[in-house]
Amino acid sequence: MRQLDVIGIDEAQFFEDLYDFCCEAADHDGKTVIVAGLDGDYLRRSFGSVLDIIRLADSVTKLTARCELCGKRASFLLRKTEETQTELIGGADVYMPVCRQHYVNGQVVVETTRIVLESQKIQCSSLA
Ligand SMILES: [Zn+2]
Repeated sequence: MRQLDVIGIDEAQFFEDLYDFCCEAADHDGKTVIVAGLDGDYLRRSFGSVLDIIRLADSVTKLTARCELCGKRASFLLRKTEETQTELIGGADVYMPVCRQHYVNGQVVVETTRIVLESQKIQCSSLA
């Protein structure tokens, strides 16, 4: 790594040693470190160490996508499946970028769907 002046890290939310690595590379080795990653998961919970390294950063740029439903700036992700684990690798088939309004509306739809599906499971199992 001695020959490198700049280090780029993508999908930073998946690196467990992100904080220590960035600290070492920037503070001790004098490297310029450019990090890209998600600051939150589909439930807007902190994802990996991305929020922790903001304290180490000289500057931070929050990027957005376009809301798939209305075209406004999209800061959030809506998961289209019932899977609940934080790390579910997928693209447009699993996630869609959404604006705040459609995130909030989407969470209501997802929760309502879950409740309806669970009540049907209970009805089905009681019929069996
Ligand atoms: Zn929208």
